Order: sequence, then structure tokens, then C-alpha cells
Amino acid sequence: MEPMSAAAKRVLLAKPRGYCAGVDRAVETVEKALELYGPPVYVRKQIVHNKHVVATLEEAGAIFVEENDEVPPGSIVVFSAHGVAPEVHEQAKQRDLKAIDATCPLVTKVHSEARRFAAQDYDILLIGHDGHEEVIGTTGEAPENITLVDGPEDVKNVKVRDENKVVWLSQTTLSVDETMDTVDGLRQRFPLLQSPPSDDICYATQNRQQVVKEIADDCDVMLVVGSTNSSNSVRLVEVALQAGSRAGYLVDYAHEIQESWLEGATTVGVTSGASVPDDLVTGVLEFLAERGFTDVAEVESVKEKLTFSLPRELVRDMKAKE
Ligand code: SF4
Repeated sequence: MEPMSAAAKRVLLAKPRGYCAGVDRAVETVEKALELYGPPVYVRKQIVHNKHVVATLEEAGAIFVEENDEVPPGSIVVFSAHGVAPEVHEQAKQRDLKAIDATCPLVTKVHSEARRFAAQDYDILLIGHDGHEEVIGTTGEAPENITLVDGPEDVKNVKVRDENKVVWLSQTTLSVDETMDTVDGLRQRFPLLQSPPSDDICYATQNRQQVVKEIADDCDVMLVVGSTNSSNSVRLVEVALQAGSRAGYLVDYAHEIQESWLEGATTVGVTSGASVPDDLVTGVLEFLAERGFTDVAEVESVKEKLTFSLPRELVRDMKAKE
């Protein structure tokens, strides 16, 4: 009698995954600034929320700081992809810093919406995570008008001045479904609540969640490559679990995967957050292949083509040097 073959072990590899257009632009901004001006180039906050990316840029001569006052006057400072409040630009000017703004254009779009609704004196209900840099930056555009709503359970706490003039906006990297639950809750309280003119949750966040939803039900385990402070990466684990994956874990590197997570698993899903370079995913695939998960099927839900040009102030200096 033939011995019974072990169940085939396979990997479902999500696509799109990893770098989005905003992260690609922000990382390239620091790389080009280092090339053009030479190190050190100061970067306010983590340029993108990924440990590996930050460590790699540090090795190349970037110095990461929390605030402008840590940057020597006259130096170059790059603002991260998450965006900054107007007062941060002002502080940089006062300190005579040369600022290069790597804020993702899709975050800038939310800032413009906030300014526009604030100019019409709306109460702006900003759905997002308390303390996240993007939320702090957006709130800084109109602190008098913006109230943070941190998830559906926070809806009951919201107070507005005029229920006829209320709009919701959101952080770009939230769970689409949870945000809609929050909006439903807000709309029950404020029936005239207006929606943003276009999606605030960005295309990259939506697409990475969409493909995870498509594969999650077939997965015993979903491995999401990303850092714990990366909002969109953390959301991918939550989305996977809600969509039927039996387990889900976030790892920065392959060596963080615990053998016990794979016990009894025959199908492992793999994806990565929008700030994660693909070589970290390759490391995870190699780790899995060494444990018999050699059959890798890439599942693509949508093609992404978007790219953003580098910040104007950097391009101007690059041209001047040609
Ligand atoms: Fe921009 Fe979205 Fe990427 Fe954030 S996740 S940098 S908003 S494209």
C-alpha cells in the first residue's frame, strides 16, 4: 500500500501588497536628498512606519528626530509621509531649516478638505486613531473645528455645535469596514452628516484589505509583514481574522515567525503593509519554503499603477545641480 501523502502545503501570496506610491515617494525623497546634499539629512519622525526602512536609511546617513528643535539651524529636514500640521512648517522656517515635505499627496488631500470645511465653519469629525501622526497633522489644520472619533465605540462621546453642519473625514489607513460602522453610528446621531468629497481611506489601504478578504477564508494562518506602529499593517491582520483566517500575525522579519503558528497549517496567506519593501516578504517565503510551503500562488485582486512625483523643492534643487 502507498504511504499516505502529507497534505500539500501552500502559500497564497496577496497582490497588491507592500510599497504604495506615497511610501515609494517618501523613501526615494530621503535617498535623493542624501545623494544631493550629502549626509546628514534630518528626518522628522519615521519617514514611513517600518523598522527596516528606517534602519536602512539611518545607515545611509539619515538622522531621525522627533521634533524640529532637534535639528541644527540651517540643516535639511524631511517631513514624513504622514503629514505635518502647519505649525511644523512654521517652526522649520523660524529655525531656518530647509524643509522637504514628503507628505503623501493623498494625506495632503485630506488636509485640504479639512481646511475647506473649517473655512465654512463645519464641525469636522475626523475618524482615526488617537495619537497617530497623520491624525495629529490633519487636526493641526483646523484644531478648533476637528473632533477625533476613534472607532465606533467613540461615537457616543461626540458633541457638535450645529447638527446641520457636520462632515466626517478620516485617516487614510483605517479598516474600511470599521470606518463604515463608525460612519453609520455617527449618521444615526447626526442624520445630516456629510461625507468627504472622495474616499479618504487611500487606494493602497483599500486594495491591500480587499485581496486579504478574498483569500482569508482559505487560510489557516495569515502572516502580515509590517511594523506594529504601521496602522495599515495592523489593520490587515484584523481584516484577515474578520474575513475568516483561523489565525493572523504581524511580523517585521521572517525570524519572528514562531514554529507553533504553522503547526497543522496547510494554507498560509502572506501579505505586507504599504511601508514594507518586498525583500522582507521574500524572506518570509524562504522561511516557509524551508518548512515545506513550496507551492506559492499569487492572488491578484487589482492592478496598481499610481506613482507620485518627488516633492517640488527637491526636484528644483536636483535640476539646479544638473
Ligand atoms: Fe499615501 Fe496611502 Fe501610502 Fe499612506 S498608505 S502613504 S496615504 S498611498
